[in-house]
Amino acid sequence: MDQSTVLDLFRQSGALLEGHFRLTSGLHSSGYLQCALVLQHPTHAEALGRALAAAIGVHDATAVLSPALGGLIIGHEVARALGVRAIFAERQDGALTLRRGFSLAPADRVIVVEDVVTTGGSTRETMDVARKAGAAVVAAGAIIDRSGGASTLDTPFHALVSLSLPTYQPEACPLCAQGLPVVKPGSRI
Ligand SMILES: [Zn+2]
Repeated sequence: MDQSTVLDLFRQSGALLEGHFRLTSGLHSSGYLQCALVLQHPTHAEALGRALAAAIGVHDATAVLSPALGGLIIGHEVARALGVRAIFAERQDGALTLRRGFSLAPADRVIVVEDVVTTGGSTRETMDVARKAGAAVVAAGAIIDRSGGASTLDTPFHALVSLSLPTYQPEACPLCAQGLPVVKPGSRI
């Protein structure tokens, strides 16, 4: 699945909007990304999972580990494509943790999967969860890489799409300067 096919799926689902947006952070942007809107369609989720699994490669993986909630569905679909377990880490007292009886052993070879990587912070934190359990992290992947190449991970990383969606302080927003009306995402779809 090439980059434009993935982006078409996102646009068709309303998961990628282009225009002039006020994000919940208060920043303005020319784009709005909400992976849940493409992943709500199981056939899209499955296709994206297969494509991401192929891009990552197998690495003799034994499990896919994702951070909740964003990584859950795509992690599950990558794991389905690879025929391995799909488990997730979730926040407890602010720290990502394995709960619900999920476990990793030193023999496990883990692929960390997320929907979107922006700074790489949550991917790194999820990798730490696997390593603290004694497992090896063999690769990481995301549907969308928004890091602009800024995210450096100490494991091979693959994304289906590399996307730059710059954000602006409202007073420095070039789209405001052009007089384009600003939209709150979700208010018109
Ligand atoms: Zn603006």
